[in-house]
Amino acid sequence: MDRKALGVSVIHQEVNLSILKEKQVSLVVKREDLNHPFISGNKFRKLKYNIIEAQQQGIQTLVTFGGAYSNHIAATAYAGKEYGLRTIGIIRGEELSGKWKDNPTLVQANEHGMDLRFISREEYRDKANSASIQALKETIGPFYLVPEGGTNVLAIKGCEEILKESDWNFNYVCSSVGTGGTLAGIINSSGPAQKVLGFASLKGDFLTKDIRNFVTRENWEIRNEYHFGGYAKVSQSLIEFINHFKQKTGIPTDPIYTGKLFYGILDLVKQDYFKKGSSILAIHTGGLQGIEGMNSVLKKRQLPLIEV
Ligand SMILES: *Cc1c(COP(=O)(O)O)cnc(C)c1O
Repeated sequence: MDRKALGVSVIHQEVNLSILKEKQVSLVVKREDLNHPFISGNKFRKLKYNIIEAQQQGIQTLVTFGGAYSNHIAATAYAGKEYGLRTIGIIRGEELSGKWKDNPTLVQANEHGMDLRFISREEYRDKANSASIQALKETIGPFYLVPEGGTNVLAIKGCEEILKESDWNFNYVCSSVGTGGTLAGIINSSGPAQKVLGFASLKGDFLTKDIRNFVTRENWEIRNEYHFGGYAKVSQSLIEFINHFKQKTGIPTDPIYTGKLFYGILDLVKQDYFKKGSSILAIHTGGLQGIEGMNSVLKKRQLPLIEV
């Protein structure tokens, strides 16, 4: 398979902020967000081996699920276009069916050829049970199912390619966490002396248990104090942080995942969590496509916008 975007050498960018100098800690960002214009960051890694598998099985259609602003929906739509697969996105929220054209994520997914189907929140809850899947098979025909958020064994295999041996000299590797698939891949390919920190973007203690199923190492922990109220929850202070961080470093971050990651890393730096002289590698997993949609929500709520 022609991998235009994977295998390109990802840019490492050093962050210069006075707090880092003061605490004598270095922070370098692995810019996975620059991998690809549409399928940014980790969602691309997660799809790679799933697409190869679908192609090997001779299946022409990918079906997946997601919310209205989902990075995974955006990535799957684009991947389908690039690799000649039909894509169907089952979207949470019946009410969107009449107004999805106001949603930049869904408009772009549709432009990339994704067939969007809207279902109620109740149906969405049952989407992956065998009766729902069977019903889909009857209407769509054979398909390859990519789970919501894209996490499965093949996705983790793809995320094992994020870290390279040349990254093993960093003392810490930090990444944001949704389902935990990305972090599991990072843990599996981390160096023998590295510590991996996952910053949860949603509430709940289930993550550690979920991740444990996919890894054999013990060199990691989940930080649960930087989710800002939970998945897709934003506050004024998070938006201000995102804008400030971009002004100071030139690095854009998204409000769902990577903004919370950098907020958390710098807060731990302030608290002297990292020993003097230590080096941190932060994985920028992307997600920037979601900013436009988030800004339209912020505008309605009369909150400050994320600067683009
Ligand atoms: C989906 C996503 C994550 C979380 O990935 P998981 O494998 O679900 O933990 C992190 N960052 C961005 C930008 C994402 O889109």
